[in-house]
Order: sequence, then structure tokens, then C-alpha cells
Amino acid sequence: PDVERWWMLTCTQVCDDAGVELGCITTLAPADDGSADRQRRVLDEAQALAHMGAWELDVPSGELWWSDEVYRIFGLPPQSFTPDYDAFLAAVHPDDRSTVRDAVDRVLVAGSQYAVRHRIVRPNGDVRYVQEKSLVVRESDGSARRLLGTVTDVTEEALADAAQERAQAALASSEARYRMLAENASDVVWQIDRDGVVEWLSDSVRTVLGWQPADIVGHQADEFLHPEDRGRRGDLSQSLAGDKGPQEVRLLRPDGTYRWMSSSVHPTETSEGLALVGALRDIQAEVEARVELEHAIGHDRLTGLATLAATAGRIADRQARLAHGSAVVGVMCIGVDGLGTINDAYAHAAGDRVLAAVARRIVATVGDVDLVGRGAGNEVHVVLPDLASGADAVPLAERIRRAVVDPIHVGEVAVTPSVSIGIAVGGRDDDAGELLRGAGVAMRRAKSNGRDRYEFLDQEMADEAQRLLQLESGIRVGLQRDEFRPWFQPIVNLTTGEVVGHEALVRWLTADGQTVEAWKFLPVAERGHLIADLDLVVLNKAIEELAGDPDSGRFIAVNVSAESLRRGDYDAHVVGALTEWGVPSERLHLEVTETALLNLTGDLRATVATLADAGISWYVDDFGTGYSSISHLRDLPIGGLKLDRSFTSGLAAGDQTCTRLADGLVGLADGLGLDTVAEGVETAAGQAVLASQGWRHGQGWLYGKPAPRR
Ligand code: C2E
Ligand code: CA
Ligand code: CA
Repeated sequence: PDVERWWMLTCTQVCDDAGVELGCITTLAPADDGSADRQRRVLDEAQALAHMGAWELDVPSGELWWSDEVYRIFGLPPQSFTPDYDAFLAAVHPDDRSTVRDAVDRVLVAGSQYAVRHRIVRPNGDVRYVQEKSLVVRESDGSARRLLGTVTDVTEEALADAAQERAQAALASSEARYRMLAENASDVVWQIDRDGVVEWLSDSVRTVLGWQPADIVGHQADEFLHPEDRGRRGDLSQSLAGDKGPQEVRLLRPDGTYRWMSSSVHPTETSEGLALVGALRDIQAEVEARVELEHAIGHDRLTGLATLAATAGRIADRQARLAHGSAVVGVMCIGVDGLGTINDAYAHAAGDRVLAAVARRIVATVGDVDLVGRGAGNEVHVVLPDLASGADAVPLAERIRRAVVDPIHVGEVAVTPSVSIGIAVGGRDDDAGELLRGAGVAMRRAKSNGRDRYEFLDQEMADEAQRLLQLESGIRVGLQRDEFRPWFQPIVNLTTGEVVGHEALVRWLTADGQTVEAWKFLPVAERGHLIADLDLVVLNKAIEELAGDPDSGRFIAVNVSAESLRRGDYDAHVVGALTEWGVPSERLHLEVTETALLNLTGDLRATVATLADAGISWYVDDFGTGYSSISHLRDLPIGGLKLDRSFTSGLAAGDQTCTRLADGLVGLADGLGLDTVAEGVETAAGQAVLASQGWRHGQGWLYGKPAPRR
């Protein structure tokens, strides 16, 4: 008391991410922090980090010493009382006490060390698993002098092991059940004709799926498949061509639920020609057990998300499934900002709560939990399965950034989370682990650039994303300033050479006097959900143009994007504009691409039908580049086909395949009573071949390029 000492007073201000002060942490420590103190402090921190405490028992006196971390593992305030062997035994789970006592007794008598895993019960009733290791130090006469030991909290691993054991047991028992089932009930066997209609199926369908055979025979097999599995069954013609091996598919049951079945099909010759014979085997239990097992071993317990290893596997899987050469898989590494501060201020559990809440918000924004994984520490990964370019990751990154910011309550205070996002992309041949690492590098760059932002690993990609964003906002402004208008390109009758109508093609007349062609900005407009607005501008101006030329009898063809059809009021808009300008609906043609047409759902088909009923002709644009089947052309009210210009150029160059295909297509269109337009006619030679094949109309530079007015 009569000695003066220096003390160190540290005061740490704690703020939330918005910079609002939450409070202060103040510590007072002796300032003469010599190396012994330091060693003790570092040891203590290391123990806390490893969830490992150290203890020492003086055997003759029975005196027991615990490091701070032992108290923490036992759920007690550090150094709150002087422990003894009885106090320790009292904390051990009653069922494990005799094991622990035996181990200690044995080592005191003979041997040099022991290791036991047992449970402890904290004062608040929580049960934890700990691993103890101990070493005995003996006197020269062999009697035990001291016991030194460590105790490690292994609750997390113990729970994971238990879950895995349970899942494996479930798998084993379900396999046994399945084997019994397979022996006692036979597979469902069915025959499907080449149009996909079920011709017959075995009686076992009653017991396996609950249908009567008559419920299914005569229907499309697809009607009984889960919508997501229809593609998996494979294209029928593909199946007809060869054996594809068993596929896992879900089959509908009368109560509306689905059951996992293994489906194998083989082509067979029948009196009616080729057909498919297939066998269906119930694998519901197998699939369920597999899912449970995957969950137990591939998921992080705090967030329920895929582990890092599982995410790497998923990335590799998506890379292998990339559709075409230039497509990429994107990987985001999302770091939750400021979790360190939260952990320091409110203990680890608080940081965990914030991380788990942010992870949930990310999953909700992404919309598919299978694309989200837990990285190291405070990181969450998102997989973007199929991107045309890295810049396509930006909209999602922005949405995630905005979605996480709602305050989360930690004790008394509300924390406003933010995230730093790193983005890396890779093609088929890039290493998934490298992608994850690259995204992490970019994430750390986002943090050091000020947090609450995204960064690309690749500078070129960052520039490209910036360029696209600027272009998109330019289009937005251009729409407000009325900078878009249609240019018109003639369509001629191939026999008479007469101009019968025009196609309206959008052009952007920018403020600095440039004319930008459609293909340079339409993809960006589409990505920014601006294309339907552009479509309406072109539509209105085209109809106005028709009204200004009432007597020529010529039509104008306007392009319609899938997004316009999805708007819901497109049909009303078209009919309204025609009525307003007094233009007969026969003078308006609408062009929709083959691919958009294929993906039409019920409502959109109704829109197409309404406009066709009103007298407007629909044309299939870029015909030959998509995969539309004859049934589509037959079932939708289509007036004509526009042969894609790649065919026309092939034709003109003397390409035999193109020539034969074009010949086939024109025959098909004639057979279905459809009008035909060949696009991209650039030479008289090309025109001659098309005319000889019977194409009725042509369009292309030979007859004029797009121009401001008709
Ligand atoms: P598209 O409907 O196939 O339009 C034909 C494109 O081929 C036009 O390009 C046209 O300028 C070009 N073209 C015409 N004849 C020839 C030729 O003889 N040789 C060559 N090499 N090219 C020729 P553009 O105007 O750049 O339009 C590109 C695509 O953008 C269009 O393809 C269409 O799918 C879309 N598009 C244009 N305007 C609109 C619009 O208002 N709305 C929507 N949704 N899409 C539009
Ligand atoms: Ca077109
Ligand atoms: Ca076209």
C-alpha cells in the first residue's frame, strides 16, 4: 500500500458500422508489464483461442489450480473461487464421474498419462463435451507429485460425430428396407411411344405409386414427372437413339406428392415403329438418407450452409455444366463488416448471431440455399452458376448489399450490418479452389477500400462492369429524353420485287449526334429491365408511321421481347394504340424469337392468342437457331417464319447443309400454311436460290439497310 505503481488505462471506443458510438471498454492494468506478465497473458489468450484450459494438481496437498480458460469452459467466471478435486468432480456429468475418477486413480498408482473424453454440466445446465489429457510427475521414490493436464471444449466435434453416426445408421436401415421392398414388389415397367404418350404400364404401379394403370395410359409421360425433372428424362429422340443409363426423377402420386424413382429406358421396336420401354424403381428412402447424410457432413452448424469443401464441389459441378464456351461461373466471397468489433464488445455469441442473421438474408436474396456456403470466419460464399460475363454479377451483389442492412439487436443495442463483397469468375477449366481464394482476395480489397461495396478480382472485369452500368444509366436517361426511334428496313416479295412492308428496328440517337445500332445496347437494356419500355416506344412510333401512310397497304413488323409479353398489359397497349391511330390490325406484324416463344407459359400464350384474334400476325424471328418443335408451330397462332440470316449467308456461300435445311424449312412452312421471310439477303445469287426454293419474301441489304423513315 505504501508503494507507488504506474497503471495503464486503456479506453476503446466501440461503434456500429454507421459510426454511432455504442459505448466504451475500459481496462486498467499494471504498467510494468514485464515479460513474465506478457507470457502469462499470451498463454491465456492462446488457451481461449483453442478453447483449451490448463490445470495442475499438487497430489500430496490436494491443491488444484485452473487457468482462466478452464473456468470459462466450465461456465464460471475466471478465478472466481479456488477449485479443488471435489469441485471438479461435481462439475462432471453424473454419468461420466466414475470414468473420470477411475482414470485419475489409475494414473496416480501407475502409468504416466491418461486421456478421457467426458461431459460436464455448467451451472446454467448446459452440457458440454470436453477432452482431458493429463501427465503425471513423480518423485524419485515413484510416488505421484503433480498432475498436469489440459481440458479442451470439443462439443462441436462431438455433436458433428453424433449426427454423422445417426445419418449413417439411417442410411443402413433404409438400405435394408429398400432391399426388402425390391425383393417383394416388382418395378414399374412402362412403354412410351415416340410422342411421349404412355402406351401401357405394369400393374405394380398400384402399389408403388398408387395409380391405376388406366389413370396413366394414354397420357403424356411428362405429366407425371416433376417439372424440374422433365429435362432430365432426356429428349425422347435422344433416348431413342441410345441407352442413357438410369436417371433419378420424381413421379407424381394421386395425392399430389412426388416420389423419387430411378428410371431407365431402352429403345425398342414395336409394330408401330420405335418406342421406349422403361423401368421405374422406388428410391425414395435412398434419396432421403443421402440427403440427410449430406446435410450432416456437408453443412455448417451455425448457419446451416454448405461447408467450404462442399461449396468448392458445387462450383466444380457448375463449371462442368456450363452451357457454352464463353459462359462463366461467378463466385462471391461476402465478408460481414465489423464482426471483430462486435465480438470484442459483446463476446463471440453476439458475432455469431449477426453472422447467422446476415447469412439468412443472403440466402433469401439469392433465392436458392444450394448456391450459398459458409466460408472461413466471417465469410459467406455465393455461387453464380451461369453468367455471360462477370459484369452480370453486379445486380446480385448490389441486391445483397442492400438486403443485409436492417438493424440486428445484440443485447441492448442495434447493430447495422454491412458486407464487403469480392467477385471472381472462372470458366470450365479454372480451379474451384482458386476461384474461392480469388474471391477472398477481392473481398479483402473491398474491405480495405472502405467496406460496404463490391470489388472484382480482375481489373478488366471491373472496368467492363463500370462501362455496362454507365451504358444502362445512359439508356435510362435516353428513354426520358426520347432518344430512341425505329428505323425501317424494307421487306420485298421475292417473285415481284415489290416492297410489301418494313421491319422497325430500334436506334438510339444520342445527345452527341451518334446513331447506335440495336445490338450494341439491347443486351444491356435487357439486363437492366428496360427493354419493354424500348419496345413500347418503337411500337407507338411504328403505329404512328402506319397512320401517316393510310393507303399503301404495307405493314410494319415490330420486335417484341419476352419481357414485354410478361408485362401483362402488352396486348391492351397494342390494341389501344391501333384504335387510337385508326390503323387496321392487319398492318401490324409482331416478331418474337423462337427461344422466347418456346418458353411461353400459359398466361403469355393467352396474350399471343388475344393479339392474333385481334387480327395481328405473329412471326417467329431468327427461325432455325432455336429448338422449336413442329408442335409449337401448330399449337400457337403463328402467321409466318423469318429464316435466320445465318442460313441465308450459308446458302449464298453454297453451303450444302444450309441449303438443304432452308429447303426443308420452306416446305415445312408451306405445309403448315405459314408465310416465309428470308432475312439477310445481301446478294442477287442468294436471292435466286431462295426464290427457287419457294421463299415468298426477303429482307436484307440487297433491298436496303434500315433507314430513319420508310
Ligand atoms: P433481328 O430482328 O433479326 O433484326 C435484323 C437485324 O439484322 C438488324 O440488326 C438488321 O440491321 C440486320 N440486318 C438486316 N439485313 C441485313 C443483312 O442483309 N445483312 C446483315 N449482316 N445484317 C442485316 P439490328 O437493327 O442491330 O437489330 C439486332 C436485333 O435487335 C434484332 O434482330 C432484334 O432481335 C433486336 N431488335 C431490334 N429492334 C428491336 C426492338 O425494337 N425491340 C426488341 N425487343 N428487339 C429489337
Ligand atoms: Ca426481327
Ligand atoms: Ca431475325
